[in-house]
Amino acid sequence: MNLVTDEVRRLLPDGTPLDRLVAEATTDIAGILERALARQAPTKDEVERLLMTTGGDLRALVATADQVRREDAGDVVTYVVNRNVNFTNVCFVNCQFCAFKRQRWESDAYNHGTDEVLGKVAEAVERGATEICMQGGINPQMGAFTYRDMLVAIKSAFPQIHVHAFSPMEIMYGSRRTNMPYGEYLAMLRDAGLGSIPGTAAEILDDEVREILSHKKVDVATWIEIVTTAHRVGVPSTATIMYGHVETTAHVAAHLALVRRLQEETGGFTEFVPLHFIHQNTALFQRGLVRPTANGAADFSMYAACRLFFRGTIDNLQTSWVKLGHELAALSLAAGVNDFGGTLMEESISREAGADAGEYTSAAEIEQLIRSMGRIPRQRTTLYKELPAQPYVATAAYSAAHAAVPGA
Ligand code: SF4
Repeated sequence: MNLVTDEVRRLLPDGTPLDRLVAEATTDIAGILERALARQAPTKDEVERLLMTTGGDLRALVATADQVRREDAGDVVTYVVNRNVNFTNVCFVNCQFCAFKRQRWESDAYNHGTDEVLGKVAEAVERGATEICMQGGINPQMGAFTYRDMLVAIKSAFPQIHVHAFSPMEIMYGSRRTNMPYGEYLAMLRDAGLGSIPGTAAEILDDEVREILSHKKVDVATWIEIVTTAHRVGVPSTATIMYGHVETTAHVAAHLALVRRLQEETGGFTEFVPLHFIHQNTALFQRGLVRPTANGAADFSMYAACRLFFRGTIDNLQTSWVKLGHELAALSLAAGVNDFGGTLMEESISREAGADAGEYTSAAEIEQLIRSMGRIPRQRTTLYKELPAQPYVATAAYSAAHAAVPGA
């Protein structure tokens, strides 16, 4: 018996009418839910209250989020066929929640060159990928223009592939190395083929929390500046939160409020992705600085609260099979979620931290998980567009060059 999913299953809509669940909730929660159903999104204080719900209040919250998802996003659940490429694990930043980084002298440190990156992109394209998701450690040995050069190499060989790459931390570092202001640097990457950036390195957007997690990491003001600059130069991004470590619900509510305000200003976020902290192999856990929360109810209150809070601003709410595992990720579709994320093909960051959901989930398996929840799977592009009629291919020049090299 899986206790986590049994606990979660008791939270899911079971045919009890929504108005009865809401009427039975605590008065203030019922009021927030009724207003959300009438398209009045919760305030920051209200979402904080929602994040703390338990029992019947949480059941009512989940059922309300499911209804709002049905109205705003329908029954289709999207996913993207993509591949992660983590081009280096060498990093000097030393985030306390990260088990992926290595010092350059460690035996399993690596730094992939252009040919290796292109080989991974070629494999991904062969397997039907439309997106390469590319991030790495902050490696001082890399050249100042390496990010740009990687983009040029990838897009020269695979012009159609969408490159979703470089967190705000990497953008900050690249901008410093090249002595270019953020706008200029991001425009250069855009012109080299950058399609969008991951809104990672957000963790919790609070400088005191960030000081505990990683005092060398990009601070809140800089994260905002980089992400909004990206949006303004035409590079959209995702938005994320990493929860379940040292933060309070007030920090989470403030983070959500900040993301919503930025979205109202720029409209540049494509989706919101709550990410449960994977603790096992991290310094944060090993130093006793964090008492991790179990997967289950905490994730469901997060997803459901986000569905209501972002109503009218961010329509796409993504689950994470990497963080939750397949079964719980599928169940989360009943708590306001409408996107299943990507196939990934090579997930290593969460695996190194102790996640055990695997490195790859095939499109067929994702579709089966979505159908198991009575929903309709649909493959999408990174920017939530219809798929192209034809699969992506390498240019003739790339194909010819690689056909000429035996074993390449
Ligand atoms: S999270 Fe990124 S920046 Fe932080 S230590 Fe890990 S690889 Fe480096």
